[in-house]
Amino acid sequence: MGFARRFATYKCATLLFSDPERLARIINDPERSMILMFVGKAHPADMPGQELICTIHEFSLRPEFIGKIILLEGYGVALARKRVTGVDVWLNTPEYPLEASGTSGEKAAINGVINLSVLNGWWGECYNGENGWPIYPHINQDKSELSN
Ligand SMILES: *Cc1c(COP(=O)(O)O)cnc(C)c1O
Repeated sequence: MGFARRFATYKCATLLFSDPERLARIINDPERSMILMFVGKAHPADMPGQELICTIHEFSLRPEFIGKIILLEGYGVALARKRVTGVDVWLNTPEYPLEASGTSGEKAAINGVINLSVLNGWWGECYNGENGWPIYPHINQDKSELSN
């Protein structure tokens, strides 16, 4: 599963770590193990964004996440191209309704990668019930409001 983008705080890059024990159980399931790959950069002046990268780095060093949580350095167009073509599932967990588009998810989709994303930006418009997985915004459980 891939997560590659700018580490702006509204992208909620560390959301999956809010229950690390559960995440460890899912990632290390002997029948359906997975690797979670993070790639990204924070703006030099964005200290909270840089802290997100530090948090992911620290989690990646925990024994239960070694080799399972991978943080790649050097995010740019070349590395982004490999990510949007080289993972099975594209994860996007922005805070609703702050995602303008979610361009990397579009790039992943046209390369055959399945999206797992908050119904916001492009995914809110293109999710059709069977082309990936939706994450309904926590603040808005009324799905009818999401279809416009
Ligand atoms: C696609 C791309 C972005 C923008 O991705 P978002 O999902 O809109 O944040 C940023 N940087 C690089 C290198 C990209 O390839």
